[in-house]
Formats: sequence, structure tokens, C-alpha cells
Amino acid sequence: MLAIKNAVLVMRDHFIPDATLLVENGKIVAFDEERFLPVPKDCEVIDAEGLYVGPGFVDIHTHSDGKVFLQDEPESACLHHLKHGTTTLFPALYFNMNTEMYVEKIRLLRKAMKKKECANIGGLYMEGPYLNPKFGCERESNPWQGPVCSERYMPIVEEAWDLARVWALAPERENIKEFVDAVREKNPQAVFSVAHSEAAPSEIEALIPYGLKIGTHHTNATGDRVKYPECRGVCVDETVNYNHEIYAELICDSRGIHVDPYMLRLVRRIKGDDRIILISDAYACDGPIPPGYEGVDDINFDHAGEIAGSKLTLDIACRNMIKHTGASVVDVFKFASYNPSRATGLLDRGEIAVGKRADLVFVDHRMKVSKVIMNGEAVV
Ligand SMILES: [Zn+2]
Repeated sequence: MLAIKNAVLVMRDHFIPDATLLVENGKIVAFDEERFLPVPKDCEVIDAEGLYVGPGFVDIHTHSDGKVFLQDEPESACLHHLKHGTTTLFPALYFNMNTEMYVEKIRLLRKAMKKKECANIGGLYMEGPYLNPKFGCERESNPWQGPVCSERYMPIVEEAWDLARVWALAPERENIKEFVDAVREKNPQAVFSVAHSEAAPSEIEALIPYGLKIGTHHTNATGDRVKYPECRGVCVDETVNYNHEIYAELICDSRGIHVDPYMLRLVRRIKGDDRIILISDAYACDGPIPPGYEGVDDINFDHAGEIAGSKLTLDIACRNMIKHTGASVVDVFKFASYNPSRATGLLDRGEIAVGKRADLVFVDHRMKVSKVIMNGEAVV
């Protein structure tokens, strides 16, 4: 048995200070203030020295460690995120791959998931194939134009159906419901997200009963539907804000470039803290830093000078969210662990509770990570 003592446990809506937490066989078996739960004799003890101890981060949307892609070098990229407290991540597979490349990368990641070095891969995030080709970095190399075509997408669905936790799509794509039905036929619990889209509210809402419950990197790569001059239209962002069923993914970088801090505060107020998911959307792209972005070190740019994802990890995203919105340590653990777990059906983690996976991260008030426990084992 492992005992963690002198911890400030980060619960879903409160703290437990001066606490002991017991772990056995990779699971949390008990926790309470030390005066009610003294450290048992003959067990391994880790002293948290008054640090916050919360559930490991769950990054449902990340492509890379900022340098290499998870689909190319999963071991090093997984370790990078693990060092920053991410005990579960979903490698995101982007739309800039054709059918063969998708199948090859899914097989590579399925193999990697069996390795100890990649034990924090919890499934896949399919950021394609059917997004709106008008949006997103590297859109010039989008091979998925025209109506959905089962010959082209079925090999991907066949290969990924059990690993894919989220399928991102643009609801305005022609015959998209056919694609949704094909995925659900293989996996009725499949989760869909609206992404890289300029769909109408009705097109998005029509898919909610079929598992659409996430807005991918909310307010990024989405259109607006202006009908009358000088009159704001309603489109993806408004639909995600309006429908409580839909979680909002947020990329929270240090300068508030992806999402302005004022918008972060607005989304928190509209969506409520139970529907916010922090993602890294870390990507690897080595375009030069364009004028006006001097000093920006947590965002990538492509060679056209456009934003191409981030270099973030969730510990830093949490720190930025505290800075930009005044969120508490309890709040950001909800955004970075509990909510992403709940949104994607990972019910065995994401909170400190008896019976849950002992995925734990030790942080100070600035969310600086000093220790990580995954499945009951100290890994960092
Ligand atoms: Zn992405």
C-alpha cells in the first residue's frame, strides 16, 4: 500500500487539508484528514509537504509535445505531457492525412498504447476527416473535399472505432449524418464534436441526440453567419454557448491569443464551470513568429504566419486560466481533469474518490508540477 501524507486534496468542489490518501493496486482506497486517517504502519509513504494533490490531467485534444507529433514519436511526446501532470491524453489525428495515412497512424498508436512509455494514451481524438476545408492550419493540404464517401472513410472507422473517443466534424458537410451513423453502428457510445465549421445552429443541434456534445477549441476556426449588414449572425460559437449539453474546449495560452481573456470569462459565465474543458491542442510547426507576436513562446505558427496550435501542456493551461479568469485551483482541476473525463466517458478517473484510478498530480499554487502518480505508481 502507498500512503500520501501532508497533502491538500483537491476535491470536485472543496479542499481537504492536512490529508492522508491511501492507494492500493492502482486505486484510491481511502482519504481523509490525517487526524481521522493516520498513516498505516508498514506502507510506502510519500510526503506531499503541504502541496495540492489533485486528479491527473486529462488532455483529450493534443497532437504533439510542441516538437514532434504523437503519431510519429509517441514515446517522447507522451513522456513530455506526463512530466507536466497529464496522466491521460488522446492523440489528435488531423484532417491533413488521406485514408492510408490515417490507418497507418492509428495502427502505430494502437501498438504504442501497449507500451509502458505510452501508458497515458487513453484513446484517440479524430480531428477529421470531415471538417470544413475553409478553416484550420494546413487547410491547403486537406484531401477531404466534397460529399462524405464511405469507401474513403470506412477503413478509418473500421480501424479506429474502439480507440476513437471523439470524432470531430463539420455538421454542414453534405451527407454528414451518413458518416455519423456509420461510426455509431460500430460504437453507439461514440462522442462527436463540432469543429472547423460554419454550421447553422439547427445543423449542430440536429446531431446532439446522436452524441454531439463537444465544441472543439471553442471560438477558434469557426465561422459567422451574417445575414444582414452590421447585424451579428448566429453560428457555431453561439450554438455551443446556448446548448448546455455541449462542453466547450478552450485553448488557454499565456497571452490570451487563441481566446481573449475577456472571452474566457464570458464563456465561463455562459457555459458554467461544469462545461469547460481545457485542452492543449499542442501541435508541431516551425513557422517564424510573425510581427505583432514578439515574445509569444507557447503558440506555433505555420509558414503563412497563421496560428498552428500551441506548445502548451495542461499544467500551464491551468496557470493561464487562473491568471485570465480568476479561477481557483479547484476550478482548474475540474476543467483539466473531471470535465474532460466525464465528456468522453472515462468514468474511472478525473476525481479523487474511492475506487478511482490513482492518477494524481502534486502542484503548488502556481500549478507547478513536482510529482506525478499514474495508476498508483510514482512516474515523475
Ligand atoms: Zn487540433
